[in-house]
Formats: sequence, structure tokens, C-alpha cells
Amino acid sequence: MNKIKKYLGFPADPAYRIQIEQNLTSYIFKTHTIFQLLILGCQILMLYSISVLPGGVFLKPRRTAYFCMYILLIFFTVLSLAVKAAFRRKIMEHYRMFGRMELFYTILICFWSTAVTLNDQLGGNGLNVFIYMSLIAAAAGLLKPWQSVLLFGCNFLILNALLPYFPDPYGADQSFNNMTNSFFITVLCIGLSITLYRNRVLSEYDRIIIGEQYQKIAEINEELNQQVIRDRLTGLFNRSYMETVLKEQFRSVQDKCGNIACMMIDIDYFKQYNDRFGHISGDECLRTFAGFLEKEVQNRSGSLIRYGGEEFLIFLFGQDAEAAEEIAEHMRRSAESGGYISDGPDSSPVTVSIGVYKECPSAETPFKEFITLADSALYEAKRCGRNCVKLKTGELSQQT
Ligand code: GH3
Ligand code: MG
Ligand code: MG
Repeated sequence: MNKIKKYLGFPADPAYRIQIEQNLTSYIFKTHTIFQLLILGCQILMLYSISVLPGGVFLKPRRTAYFCMYILLIFFTVLSLAVKAAFRRKIMEHYRMFGRMELFYTILICFWSTAVTLNDQLGGNGLNVFIYMSLIAAAAGLLKPWQSVLLFGCNFLILNALLPYFPDPYGADQSFNNMTNSFFITVLCIGLSITLYRNRVLSEYDRIIIGEQYQKIAEINEELNQQVIRDRLTGLFNRSYMETVLKEQFRSVQDKCGNIACMMIDIDYFKQYNDRFGHISGDECLRTFAGFLEKEVQNRSGSLIRYGGEEFLIFLFGQDAEAAEEIAEHMRRSAESGGYISDGPDSSPVTVSIGVYKECPSAETPFKEFITLADSALYEAKRCGRNCVKLKTGELSQQT
């Protein structure tokens, strides 16, 4: 019993029910539109064909009944298409209302087919309309299992209960044939409808799960990528970033014959700082200093990386490269004034030495050469007593 109940219920994780039902509604919305346009075309054709019959549509009650039923189906089909056209952008918002509307249409075509089939009996015709309309409802309705059992079951009962009142005009007793044929088609439609519903729900569920996993993988990938190119302590880009992205930036400015400046910044006597205040304070100092440099580079055309322990590298491009020496001097002074380095027990300012190499490089100039020359300018600054900026320029063009 429980198994049957489970089989007739929602086949996927209920946590995803709303999302799946929304997706299903949007799917039925599209497939019903196609079926409804086909039904509309057929009904208009049928309406035309009985209108041109000799005697007109009101000649016999049976013909009038057909006429009324065609008009009824055309009316509800046009109404459904019009509502969908008007509210097509709000399917997700009102998915329950749309779901009910499509369900109502499926119920309508089932009962409509029974009415037409009963009328057909008076002309000696078989169950054709009942059969193909039931199949359309099963294929396109996407009914929930219990809905399909209820709908196709009721339709079968109504048809067979009323068939005796619509006798064959030639006196043939078709009741056994009709009962068995309608029974098999009802069972077939229920089976088909349940299978299609389950498959559709489960494929939507898989699609959502795959989408979620893809999203998670993309997030993890992004995180890993960031870990590869970011320094853990300061959060700044690291040498790995320098070898890839920064190198590319360098090349594109180089191709445009723009100015490039490389700035190597080293904290003075940092070993002593660590010795005096401890390694943890040293780390804090590095983080604060990195934050300061980040702000300095933020609105400039350039990139900042943590090159090594207490060494930072800045590449500046274009007009900012032109002004590299002033920018470096401003940084040195800010360091000296002590406003940004974390206050240790001894609040003496931490100073920095900066080596700058600036040039408008030719196409052959290697990226690494810029760093080597900035490093040698830094060595110069250290040699001259630290807490100063040393600039080198044009050395590479002189070599060529
Ligand atoms: P100089 O003025 O010549 O640059 O002297 P210095 O002491 O700054 O240079 P040195 O190369 O002798 O020492 C660098 C120090 O930086 C040694 C090391 O303990 C410290 N350091 C490097 N990386 C880190 C880090 O991640 N955290 C901390 N707290 N200290 C670091
Ligand atoms: Mg140092
Ligand atoms: Mg150093």
C-alpha cells in the first residue's frame, strides 16, 4: 500500500518540489501551446466542414451538437492561448495558477472527447475521438499520478455509463467492444501519463542537482585559483600571479609602447622588528603595510604583489609609470610618518627603502630585466643608508 502511495506521489526530493513544479509548469506552458494551436486548427477545419454541409449546422440535432462542441473547444482553446500570451512573463511568479489552468484544459479535452464520442455513436462511429484525445491528454498533460488515475478513470466510467443511452443507428450492440477498448486505452493512458510524469520530474531533479554541483565546482575552482595566485598572509597577489597575469599586462603595455615602472619596496631592518616585537607582531605589520600599498595602487594603472618576505613589487603603467618616483617618495614618507604601520610597544616608525626602474621598453625587453634593475636600485637605496628612494632609468635601451 505504502509503495503504491509512494509511486503515486512526488518521485523526487520534496525539498526541490517548488523549483521542479515551476520548471514543469514552464515546460507544459510551451508544449500545451503547440498542442492547443494544433487543436484550434483542427476544430476550425471541422467547424468549416460541417458549416458547408447541405442544410447547414442546425439541420439535425446531432449536427448542432457537434457544432456546439467545436465552438466550446475553440472558445476554451483561444481563451487559454490568450491568457498565456498575456501573462507569459509571469509564469514563474504564478506557476500554481498556470498549472491549474493547464490542468483544467486537460480535464476539458478529456470530457469533451467523451461527449463527442457519445455523439459519434449515434452515427455508428467508434471510439476514435475518445482514444486520440485521451492519448493527447496523457502525453501532453503532465498530470500527477493520482490526477491521471482520477481523470482517466472517471472519464472511462462516464463514457461507459452513458454509452447505453447513445445506441448504434444500425442496431448493432457495441457495448462489449466499447467497454474493452475504452478500458485498455484508459489503462494505457494512465500508465503513459505516470511514466512521463515520473521521467520528467526525475530529469528536472537531475538537471537541478547537476546545476548545483556545477555551481559548487565553479566556486571551489575559483577559490583554488585565488589560493594559487594569492599570498595567504597579506591577501595580495603572489609570484605565481606575477608569472602569469602580470607578465601578460606587461606585454600588452609593451606592445603599445607605453611607459612601465617597476618598484621594489623593502621594509628596513625588519629582522630586528621581528626580534624586538615577535613574529606575530611582524605578521601584523606586514598585513597593515600590504593594506596601505593596496590603497596606494588601487586607483592607479598597475599591479601589486608580495614578492618575498618583507618585499613588495609594484608595476605601474602609462602616466602612473611616469610619476613612479613621486609615488615611491610619497610611500616612503607615509611609512616614515608611521601612520599605517601597526603600533608596537615601541612606536618608532618602520621605514622602507624603494628601488624604481622606469622605461618605455622595446618589444624585446624581457620582463625579468625590469625586476632585476628595480632590485639593483633597491640595493642602491639600502647602500645609501635605507629609508630612501633610488631611481634607475633607460638602462635597457642603452644596452640595445
Ligand atoms: P634590510 O633593511 O637590509 O632589508 O634588513 P632586514 O632585516 O629587513 O632584511 P633581512 O633580509 O635580513 O630580513 C628579513 C626579515 O623578514 C627576516 C624574516 O624574519 C622577516 N620575514 C620574512 N617573511 C616574514 C613573514 O612572513 N612574517 C614575519 N613576521 N617576518 C618575516
Ligand atoms: Mg628588509
Ligand atoms: Mg628583504
